[in-house]
Amino acid sequence: MNEIFLMKLGEIVLKGGNKHQFENRLRGNVRRRMKPYGNFNVYILQSTVYVEPKDDCADVDGAWEACKSIFGVVSLCRCRPCEKNMDAIFEAVEAYLGEDLDMAASFKVESKRSDKQFPLTSIQISQEIGGRIAEAHPNCQVDVHHPAYTVYVEVRDFSAYVHGPAEPGAGGLPTGVGGRGMCLLSGGIDSPVAAYMMAKRGLEIECVHFFSYPYTSQLAKDKVLELARLVTRFSGRMTVNVVPFTEIQEAIRDNCPEEYFTLVMRRFMMDIAQRIAKEDGCGCLITGENLGQVASQTMEAMTVTGAVVDIPVFMPLVGMDKEEIITIARKIGTMETSILPYEDCCTVFTPKHPKTKPSLGGVLHAEEPLDREALIARAIAGTEKVKVAYHDGALL
Ligand code: ATP
Ligand code: MG
Repeated sequence: MNEIFLMKLGEIVLKGGNKHQFENRLRGNVRRRMKPYGNFNVYILQSTVYVEPKDDCADVDGAWEACKSIFGVVSLCRCRPCEKNMDAIFEAVEAYLGEDLDMAASFKVESKRSDKQFPLTSIQISQEIGGRIAEAHPNCQVDVHHPAYTVYVEVRDFSAYVHGPAEPGAGGLPTGVGGRGMCLLSGGIDSPVAAYMMAKRGLEIECVHFFSYPYTSQLAKDKVLELARLVTRFSGRMTVNVVPFTEIQEAIRDNCPEEYFTLVMRRFMMDIAQRIAKEDGCGCLITGENLGQVASQTMEAMTVTGAVVDIPVFMPLVGMDKEEIITIARKIGTMETSILPYEDCCTVFTPKHPKTKPSLGGVLHAEEPLDREALIARAIAGTEKVKVAYHDGALL
């Protein structure tokens, strides 16, 4: 093969006894994520993931893009493998990086030698290859302090590898090492970012969306599925549970005091999300809540909505400014879809004067007229499980 990817592991390296478990998970994730792009060998040696196309049919550029969004990797580079001798290394540098060197004003060589049997030290490798490069590219000066371009040579167990500068990886922990989480996904800016952030901390993500047809349109549902699909670029494929929510919202509207609409509704959401979560092996809920953003996101409101669940509720955005959230939404590519104008079910029955400092007693009293269990049972029975994967293509 004349090109392979080397990906450096991130925080996994710090994991003592669990390291193998983390590495196995990452290897599996990479293998799965490479499938749409052809046949690849994926293996881990010395805290580095090797991704090697097995034949010429592989879509190497597609695979490279996909590798940049795999959690657990801090940096990655495309390399040319070659035999472990200085002539072969120099030939590989010329063939693979020669054009880059022609364009650069200055360069240096950095070498690493994990094969301690190799006869030259790292410094000797750099000096020797650097000297040959300087001869071959007279317009490109050696500059070891501020080079415009750096050539890397790595002499490893089975081969030597040459490459240019590495690119940053997606960071975080391999998806799945932390278990599974159920994200309450609306069509807004925040919850897709929340799902992304928890996937980055190693959670496998499943989503639940509360859908209030015909108060919200089919397009609003497709928008949410598309947002989930965009998140799968990082999290890997996921299931979205689409829960019919109209009956519950109408029951709240017809039976509860208006100032409690949102709180009662959110308690139903959390309760239903937790039941589906437990059914599907998820150990936590994830929301895009953000302290102080709207009336239902005060401490008191969170106490009241959190009181219906007994698993942790992760709110990774709780202390962030809107600008910070938007920056991430743009980075992960969900922003443009989030701001499409289809309405969300929360906005349909929003009270004019919502309670911002509710008490649990007050809310329990407000929801007393409702047949809670029957409403929840029907909503869960009507839930549709939709599978989404990045590779399936846009859903809008
Ligand atoms: P977002 O940008 O995620 O819509 P938001 O700022 O609009 O959040 P709220 O509408 O108060 O805030 O919702 C808070 C959180 O509740 C959302 O981040 C999401 O996790 C969850 N949520 C709201 N509406 C829905 C829905 N229709 N289906 C599933 N989860 C929802
Ligand atoms: Mg919203």
